[in-house]
Amino acid sequence: MTIIFASNNAKKLQELRAILSEFEVQSYRVFLEPLEVVETGASFSENAHLKARAIYDRLPHKNDLCVLADDSGLCVDALNGMPGIFSARFANISENAHQIAQGHFATPQKDSEDTSNNLKLLACLKELGISQSKASFVCVMALCMRVGGVLQEKSFRGECKGKICQAPLNPKAFGYDPLFIPKGHTLTMDQIPEKNTLSHRFLALQQCKEFLKLYS
Ligand code: IMP
Repeated sequence: MTIIFASNNAKKLQELRAILSEFEVQSYRVFLEPLEVVETGASFSENAHLKARAIYDRLPHKNDLCVLADDSGLCVDALNGMPGIFSARFANISENAHQIAQGHFATPQKDSEDTSNNLKLLACLKELGISQSKASFVCVMALCMRVGGVLQEKSFRGECKGKICQAPLNPKAFGYDPLFIPKGHTLTMDQIPEKNTLSHRFLALQQCKEFLKLYS
């Protein structure tokens, strides 16, 4: 069975391939023109399903295909769970940390650079007068595949608890990894070689693998 990954994010694809090493994982871009799915959902799950379904619906041959989409982000306790589903667009929120924590901000439309998002998060900590906060990385993997001719849509949620802190930025790292220390560790996520055995993405994909084993 081929898994088609409905994402434009090369770092997510790299992690997916490492975690699902027993499967063949292809980017949807092998089959389709690049597509920007507008993330209008109110939750990780809604957005993950929007992405999976958008690609599944456009693929011509659906038998033996499994489409997976990832919606993920960082939820910071001191910001009442923000940036959450807005993690990729966080730097495009112009409001301050107090307004953001109260949910008073204009919904950003465009993604921003990882470094800008990290700087926005550090600025928020400063505005709140704190140097660290409990936080979680959350990932929802949405799956679309035909089983016995019937479309199955499933989602699998993984959460990696930890904290965010002031740490040096690393432009080569993925997203908020340079600012996040998983619970029980002392290093930030970008410095932990075993990220793919403890991450939110790994935890979501473990459940997904159990489901796929039933059908492969
Ligand atoms: P999405 O593409 O809308 O799912 O947004 C994902 C965003 O969440 C990324 O651009 C990162 O900012 C953040 N993110 C998700 N997973 C990770 C991770 O494993 N490490 C670091 N940042 C992540």
